[in-house]
Amino acid sequence: MCIFCRIVSGELPASVVYEDDQVIAFLDIQPINPGHVLVVPKYHAQSMEDLPEEDAAHMMRVGQIIDKALRKSDLRCEGVNMFIADGRVAGQDVDHIHLHVFPRFKGDGFELKVPSDARKTPGREQLDETAGKLKRALQVVT
Ligand code: 5GP
Ligand code: ZN
Repeated sequence: MCIFCRIVSGELPASVVYEDDQVIAFLDIQPINPGHVLVVPKYHAQSMEDLPEEDAAHMMRVGQIIDKALRKSDLRCEGVNMFIADGRVAGQDVDHIHLHVFPRFKGDGFELKVPSDARKTPGREQLDETAGKLKRALQVVT
């Protein structure tokens, strides 16, 4: 069983902040900032593509509730990041899909590192070619 399935089953401890019949939300043991929460489906699913659409939507719904709670809490929170690492190359370390929700405040030092050769503005032709590839794939998945 994976680490998060063991937390869901109660075999491993966790500081749970929210739970319903579909997800459990608990504090990350290595938080970016205090109040860093992981929203985790209660069954094992490795990737976003393994989640039925409604379960993915529910994970985000609970993320929104956590976002609101962080802003109302006594924790330092001037903004919120939500983040999903879907796949090893995208930074996924625990192979049980989860939504990170963590508070941000000025000067907290967290940043996404962007390679220096990224974020160049492609021409319209290149943008349209990329959009075409994606739109063909969207016809397959929707
Ligand atoms: P990922 O890199 O897969 O997106 O995020 C995995 C997260 O799970 C990391 O932020 C890490 O700190 C957290 N984590 C790993 N093991 C445990 C654990 O046993 N308990 C809790 N609460 N968090 C964990
Ligand atoms: Zn699992």
